[in-house]
Amino acid sequence: MANLIDGKAISKLVREEVARSVEAFKAEFSRAPGLHVVLVGEDPASTVYVRNKEKAAAEVGIAGRVHRLPAETTEEALLGLVRELNQSGEVDGILVQFPVPQGIRQQKVIETIAPSKDVDGLHPESIGALWAGIPGLVPCTPRGCMRLIAETGVKLAGAQAVVVGRSNLVGKPIAGLLLAANATVTLAHSKTQDLPAVCRSADVLVAAVGRTKMIPGAWIKPGAVVIDVGMNRDEAGKLCGDVDFDSAVAVASAITPVPGGVGPMTIAMLLENTLSAGRTRIARAATRTLIS
Ligand code: NAP
Repeated sequence: MANLIDGKAISKLVREEVARSVEAFKAEFSRAPGLHVVLVGEDPASTVYVRNKEKAAAEVGIAGRVHRLPAETTEEALLGLVRELNQSGEVDGILVQFPVPQGIRQQKVIETIAPSKDVDGLHPESIGALWAGIPGLVPCTPRGCMRLIAETGVKLAGAQAVVVGRSNLVGKPIAGLLLAANATVTLAHSKTQDLPAVCRSADVLVAAVGRTKMIPGAWIKPGAVVIDVGMNRDEAGKLCGDVDFDSAVAVASAITPVPGGVGPMTIAMLLENTLSAGRTRIARAATRTLIS
């Protein structure tokens, strides 16, 4: 029977660590780190996500602000706000909640955010830094997955890791982080041949697909660590992952539940990213002052 990887408990520890670091930040710089979230329109799921981020930021002492813009906002107006936030000394992290309404190009928004404030880690410069092994801001969910994997104590160096799903937000950055940790990484997707065999080769299996319970226990190598990023609803409307938990739990050595696994880690990592963006920006500004 697998050990449960308790994302709820681990994320609480992370938020406590962040709260202590925010206190130190405030003492050093006489202000709190600032996270600005931009929400365009009133998509119900996005509204909830943004409210959760606002609440989590407040709980750890981060100065959070939400810019709520009407659905009719033009791309130019949104980009104008992002450029203003890029310039503001009080803003350490900028997050534009996606999806944005039709007519606004998501990629254009991503590329307008200053890489130093890109707490979602989606800017091409952030992605390039991740793959080049240069310090930079890393997407929150993938960072959360790595923290959960670390908690299991599994040795990643030399391990076979399989990531199912290759989105820019989740699959690709997780693959990059696993590679950086010296795992041998396979990135599987919808065109992968014999997915069951590929999954069965994994010492560490990460599922980031978005398909209800598509990975059964029979696809899992005995003793593997299984990280389920999927957030789906089953026929009964119950939240569930990409992995069939009931059959997987009998085979894996450690597994994340859904809910209560990867989900709670994402916001905790956003808070960490904001703090780290603030510290890095201040350190860089100090270096520039010293040089000039
Ligand atoms: P996405 O952009 O839709 O990407 C899904 C990926 O799965 C694609 O790369 C796709 O392959 C692959 N795929 C689809 N069907 C497949 C199949 N039958 N076999 C193998 N691969 C298949 O989704 P995402 O944004 O990465 O999100 C994935 C899941 O994670 C969703 O359930 C989402 O809700 C969840 N999620 C959770 C959190 C969290 O905080 N817990 C955060 C983000 C996302 P192709 O590229 O070939 O199409």
